Amino acid sequence: MNSLADRLAEVRDRIGKACAAAHRDPAGVKLLAVTKVFPPDIIHEAYALGLREFGENYVQEMERKAASVAPLTDARFHLIGHLQSNKTRKAAELFHSIETVDSVKLLRRLDAEGKPIDVMIEVKLSHEESKSGASVDDVPAIVDAARECRNLRLTGMMTVPPWSEDAELSRPYFAQLRELAAKYGLPELSMGMSHDLAVAIEEGATWVRVGTALFGRRVKV
Ligand SMILES: *Cc1c(COP(=O)(O)O)cnc(C)c1O
Repeated sequence: MNSLADRLAEVRDRIGKACAAAHRDPAGVKLLAVTKVFPPDIIHEAYALGLREFGENYVQEMERKAASVAPLTDARFHLIGHLQSNKTRKAAELFHSIETVDSVKLLRRLDAEGKPIDVMIEVKLSHEESKSGASVDDVPAIVDAARECRNLRLTGMMTVPPWSEDAELSRPYFAQLRELAAKYGLPELSMGMSHDLAVAIEEGATWVRVGTALFGRRVKV
């Protein structure tokens, strides 16, 4: 299991098995390849294997990769890391989708950039200090504000549960996100990463965000 092609086959197999167990159509689960920290070559390599949806965490890092990936005209880039409201201009230029909208202020600033962008609300369902994301109480105001945005299309919700080796501990968070999104009629659920994607799919994920299982461990430089 060394090449990216092998690891991609393995991830697709895990997605397929989780869909079978949950009686879901695999076409309803999209794979977001998380390429943060890796050089742009890896995006080209993944693209050559058929991947088109890529997740990045930082505006500045995407900015550095942008020229290299520009020829991949049908690749779509999703911002999955926290967005500061003073970086909305750059983010609107670089990303097709922003999964981490967590305030009305950020939403309005993004809309004012005038670019058509898909957005999701990142919801913080745990009580961890360090995590970004809107609280459940903030969600109604953000959904209301999104309906008034001319350029943004609110498609769903995203969450990152507290990290644990035990994927089962993510399940209640995934279930809670599914219920919350259903309440607002939002179809997309971005939840599940390398270690807990099967549980996320059982709980209704329509996007799984996978880094390590595809590209290996991220080494900080
Ligand atoms: C890094 C990251 C991922 C990918 O995590 P892996 O465990 O490497 O699959 C997914 N979602 C978010 C928000 C991330 O920051």
